[in-house]
Amino acid sequence: MNSHKQAALIIVGHGSTTNPDSSAPTHLHADSIRRRGLFREVACCFWKEEPNMREVYEMVDSKVIYIVPNFISEGYFCQQVLPRELQLSGPTTQRAGKTIHYCDPVGIHPNMTRLLIQRADEVAPHVPREQTSLVIVGHGTSLNENSTKAIQDQVALIRSGPYGFAEVIDAYMEEAPFVAEWAKLTTAPNVVVVPFFIADGLHSFQDIPVLLGMREEVGAALSEVGVFHHNPHQLQGRSIYYSGAIGTEPLMADVILDQVHDFDAKHAVQDKIEMPNDEVKSSLAYWLNSGLDELGEVVITTNDDGSYSLCHVADRGADNLQIHRETNDALLIARNDASGTFRPLHTAPTLKRGWRLDLASLEDLRLALDFFYPAAIGMARALEQEKLTSVPLRDLLGRQTGMYRFVNTITDDQAHALIGKTCANTNCLRRILWPLTPAQPMAGAAEAKTRPNHATNGIPLLCIEACTHVVSAARKAARENHEAKSAE
Ligand code: SF4
Repeated sequence: MNSHKQAALIIVGHGSTTNPDSSAPTHLHADSIRRRGLFREVACCFWKEEPNMREVYEMVDSKVIYIVPNFISEGYFCQQVLPRELQLSGPTTQRAGKTIHYCDPVGIHPNMTRLLIQRADEVAPHVPREQTSLVIVGHGTSLNENSTKAIQDQVALIRSGPYGFAEVIDAYMEEAPFVAEWAKLTTAPNVVVVPFFIADGLHSFQDIPVLLGMREEVGAALSEVGVFHHNPHQLQGRSIYYSGAIGTEPLMADVILDQVHDFDAKHAVQDKIEMPNDEVKSSLAYWLNSGLDELGEVVITTNDDGSYSLCHVADRGADNLQIHRETNDALLIARNDASGTFRPLHTAPTLKRGWRLDLASLEDLRLALDFFYPAAIGMARALEQEKLTSVPLRDLLGRQTGMYRFVNTITDDQAHALIGKTCANTNCLRRILWPLTPAQPMAGAAEAKTRPNHATNGIPLLCIEACTHVVSAARKAARENHEAKSAE
């Protein structure tokens, strides 16, 4: 088995601009793997959250990178969106002196069976399997048949294995067999329902419970009323045991590692030790020694014993702060603003106050800063070395697919206006480095965002590609153009 101690692992998740639970399992599994010390670096990136798939490469120094999609199926995202966004040309891509291996998504690994069984046993302990129907629930869609295949494969594996359930079936929210018909599809007195999703969210908290009949209609999130803790639910003369999404199972971290292991075996990857340069950490140390001590709204104090303390810039010198000592606490501090509202844009100036984070080492500091401002240190380092490339807005909009495929029809004036408005509305602390096209710099309201804006003692926060907020605004403008044209 190859050692990956000089390699980086990047776990890719979907993420969400509205639901903090979406990215939580990906961060959890990354933390679990990081603690085992199997990889030199472990990072996450997301389709809808920060860091995005271009930025994440600036977070790792390692010359060998394994990418594992934390996705359920081999569908549209894993086959089209992720390779395009991550600039991959096949299972292994050589780029800029790095070797990048693209592994299969977690959801199709045969070891998912172990997780499903574990979940079923957790949710319905001591319930005899021979009197239990196991129902594995997916979204189902006519867009891509792969989205159901992963579930059907698991059903076949459990049916043919030594597990002893009365029956095992697949069911879907949007295609037959429908989960709403669970009572007709199953016969056992006990029914264990496991959502085959990566994260808990609207589907597992609200939609599926309604389809099962646990709730009359979609109302307050069932997470708030403890849907997973009130098992069994008595419905139609049966006992239903309802579990959280399979992707929240801690054993998913092992499936991520299994996918790396299987990639090495399938592609006969040779174990080669290529020592990285540790450039990101060295740059951080250099900047701190040079007197730079701010990154966005975070101030970094280097203590006499070589440890570090972080706090909100507005709390510099305050002594009644809540003390944290875990690097991961940075994730939690940065997650919600002072009112408890989710902060999908980390560079919005809404970081809450009142905390201090004490960290023992430069490595911990680097990781914590990446939780506060994903990829910021790496991008600042790359800019200083004149290695940072940005993506012109027209290139970004032009590569969109699916429901975003028309976004590049907006006019130049609309683009400048919506950039100015979106970035101003969020008060984003980043400086835009991308032009409209390689030959067209920003103009109008967008131009102001391209000027340096960080404090003289600050490390710059940079924007190398328009974020999901700008792309969504462009989609809205493109749709309005289309509707106006249709009405003519
Ligand atoms: S596009 Fe604007 S709002 Fe989005 S990250 Fe860049 S600077 Fe911030």
